[in-house]
Amino acid sequence: MAIVFRSQEVKSTILDPRRDFAPVTHDMEFRYDPLTGRSSRLAHFGAIRPVPLNLDDYDGENKGFCPFCPPNLEKITTRFPPELVPEGIIRRGEASVIANIAPYDAYSGLVIVSDKHVLSLEDMTQSRLSDALAAGLDFLCRVKSYDRGMSYTFMGWNYMPPSGGGLIHAHIQAFGSQNPGNLYMESLQASNNYREEFGRSFWQDYLSEEKRLGQRFLGEHDGISWFVPFAPLGIIGDVAAIVPGVTVPESVSPDTVDALASGIRRLFNYYSASQIYSFNASFFFAPDKDADFPLQIRFSARTFLNTRFFPPDTNFFQMMLQQPMCVIRPEEIAREISPYFK
Ligand SMILES: [Zn+2]
Repeated sequence: MAIVFRSQEVKSTILDPRRDFAPVTHDMEFRYDPLTGRSSRLAHFGAIRPVPLNLDDYDGENKGFCPFCPPNLEKITTRFPPELVPEGIIRRGEASVIANIAPYDAYSGLVIVSDKHVLSLEDMTQSRLSDALAAGLDFLCRVKSYDRGMSYTFMGWNYMPPSGGGLIHAHIQAFGSQNPGNLYMESLQASNNYREEFGRSFWQDYLSEEKRLGQRFLGEHDGISWFVPFAPLGIIGDVAAIVPGVTVPESVSPDTVDALASGIRRLFNYYSASQIYSFNASFFFAPDKDADFPLQIRFSARTFLNTRFFPPDTNFFQMMLQQPMCVIRPEEIAREISPYFK
């Protein structure tokens, strides 16, 4: 077992005017991701809380033009070329996968979750989530069988404006790519290095260690392990899942899709109870079926700092230092969330 949860404690003493200028020492921490070694800064504790959004502001007369609302989706949205998707648009229940009119990659699909313009977390039912995920997976499978050079597939989700989502209408992005981003590539490399060095799977060791420690592990449901990552990416923390035995999009069974949707529903119940209205999410699939790189899902809650100026919760720490900052300790987040994963 070679899983290391490395951290460095930092202290800062100030003379606090709220305590008659008595010295007050603040504890902070740098944490290093057990897989990639990337650091996260834990500081500024309790200073940022999720700000509620009024979803009614995004609907009705304020809605404006939406390309994903009926009948626009049918009439004017982009389709895939017939050699990739013969029917032009993939449909599954209420979900549709269309081509992004301004693609980010060689294969850039948008899963429109439903016809409904404003889809609250409560509206994101298990069946809607299952259909949306299944539709996205269907697209990724078609990309892989059409273009065998596309080794990497992943999905991403910006839900509501604090996450960087420019369109309110709920949509998940799905990609076939030769470059899935730095974090994906570093994780894959580090996972391969671990196997070479220790002759074991990082993922098995990691999950066993999280379960043994019991500080961040949330639960295992239908073969999916849910936990709070040791080194968060989001300012108010992350929740992640690993699906052992599932690698490429083709290896995700309908039962796994339902299990994923059910786990995401548990997370959304926590979000709703905690006034969290926005998140980023990622789904990393392995480059090939036999890779030691199980499906990884990660959600980072997002918020505006306030609704007067709408400052985002990312700043120079994330942009210029490329170092995530989090104002809550992951073990605290795990304590709050664990009842939802019982
Ligand atoms: Zn819409």
